[in-house]
Amino acid sequence: MRRSDSDELLIAVLTGEAPIYHPNTGQPVDESAERNTKGLKELSRGAKIGLEPPRFCQICGRRMIVQVLPMGWVAHCSRHGELDSRALER
Ligand SMILES: [Zn+2]
Repeated sequence: MRRSDSDELLIAVLTGEAPIYHPNTGQPVDESAERNTKGLKELSRGAKIGLEPPRFCQICGRRMIVQVLPMGWVAHCSRHGELDSRALER
């Protein structure tokens, strides 16, 4: 099994797990930052992530390979797998 086949990132987002790294900036997210930085509450609900592709893996902070598609986007962390915007839609 290749590690890139992991679905860890997808599961973390789908279950609403709090990001360890900010998906847009790649900066570590801690509780004090969450309180002081606007927009993070939104992100933790997964509302924003459906509109805008994340650039960084929220688990490890690696820069992800992002493909923008006509119907959404696919972001890929080499360690935590693929996150498809279609999986976030209902
Ligand atoms: Zn990762």
